[in-house]
Amino acid sequence: MHGWTEDTEQLAQAVLDYTRYRLHLDPVPLDGPATPEELAKAAGTTITEGGLGGEEALRLFTEVLAPACLSIDNPRYLSFIPCAPTEAATLFDLVVGASSIYGGSWLEGAGAVYAENQALRWLADLAGLPPGAGGVFVQGGTIANLSALVAARHTARRRLDGRQPAHALAVAASAEAHSSIQAAAAVMDVELLLVEPDAQGRLTGEHLRAALASRGGGGVETHGVFAVVASAGTTNLGIVDDLASVAETAEEGGCWLHVDGAYGGAALAAPSARARFAGIERADSFVVDPHKWLFAPFDCAALLYREPELAREAHAQHAGYLEPTQEAGAWNPSDYAVHLTRRARGLPFWFSLATYGTAAYTKAVERTLAVARHAAEAVTHRDYLELLRPPDLSVVAFRRQGWSPSRYGEWSDRLLAAGVAFVVPSSHRGLPIARLAVVNPRTTEADIDIILDSMA
Ligand SMILES: *Cc1c(COP(=O)(O)O)cnc(C)c1O
Repeated sequence: MHGWTEDTEQLAQAVLDYTRYRLHLDPVPLDGPATPEELAKAAGTTITEGGLGGEEALRLFTEVLAPACLSIDNPRYLSFIPCAPTEAATLFDLVVGASSIYGGSWLEGAGAVYAENQALRWLADLAGLPPGAGGVFVQGGTIANLSALVAARHTARRRLDGRQPAHALAVAASAEAHSSIQAAAAVMDVELLLVEPDAQGRLTGEHLRAALASRGGGGVETHGVFAVVASAGTTNLGIVDDLASVAETAEEGGCWLHVDGAYGGAALAAPSARARFAGIERADSFVVDPHKWLFAPFDCAALLYREPELAREAHAQHAGYLEPTQEAGAWNPSDYAVHLTRRARGLPFWFSLATYGTAAYTKAVERTLAVARHAAEAVTHRDYLELLRPPDLSVVAFRRQGWSPSRYGEWSDRLLAAGVAFVVPSSHRGLPIARLAVVNPRTTEADIDIILDSMA
């Protein structure tokens, strides 16, 4: 099983050949799900005592299993948030896998951690965070949000120094915030204080102030709200909260400001969108997922802290066998989130940034924003469609006049079955909507028009 044999040589060639073939597909077929029965019939039992051999296992993957997975990088995959890695990032993911790097500690992974930290620094600079800012790449925005909120609570508890706040500990967020904020509050067993957004769907300082006042105002010792989550691009509608006024109110109320930019934070790299993020430089923590709109393969979320030491106090694990990693001053990525062992998952993103340069990122994000602007305009030019709101970023939400939820569902199923596009309906305030999330620079205006015309 271990050891490089003739068979291994052939397998290496086959794996690299398939990788090259997959990356050459232009466009890659959309593919789509199969039922458990269909897969059982086509793939059968794959784990056997003697093994299938690499050739057969790879054949099963390429011919049966892979086609039963949607190609998230297809230019007409526009649901949820797609992922459109660069060639360099995907190729380097192979190298990371082949390198057996332990990304949890400086002792073990210094070179990788150094490179990852440079990529994090680029993101911190885009946000305008101070030189001392730093963090870690984690699996996803969900773990990143949870980790940031745990650091926020730890910090608040230290400041409370044993005193119980008058109201229960809580996280404040707008009702438009991502479901992972609710999940984090549940995991942490703290309250979620839902703040009513303004008419444009934005969390504002004014509404936040009213929500804190409803819990007695003052500081955390009164209202109990140890963190405020602002969204820098909500997932459903792409709304960027009014970060500057929220930052102001969070500071008044003694609350940690967490900015969830898992999807939208990438647009910091786009000069045409940068003004929407005014105030983000005041964040205590900030999340952006390079696996969403910064062209890294799954899974890769960047978590940054203004004062990483506060996160380290909350998260560092202590055990006799870990002591050698805890040398004074060593930067251990494990210390900044809810995890210990970690893949150096920031490296494909780093390699791509190092390869192409940051200007290429700016250009690619601007391209997607331009296609999103086209989509919004194209919606307004079709009398059977109605734009929900002008897009802040690259999510375009709209309605088809007269369609019931089931009509949206049939339309979406038909496009997927025909391999034309993957556009699942969403809903807003209880009503069905269509939604296009453009993060793939290969998505063109023509792709958008084909989808909109299919709703006529
Ligand atoms: C996608 C998303 C998340 C969750 O990120 P995962 O990487 O899917 O865990 C959190 N917040 C926002 C705003 C998101 O768009």
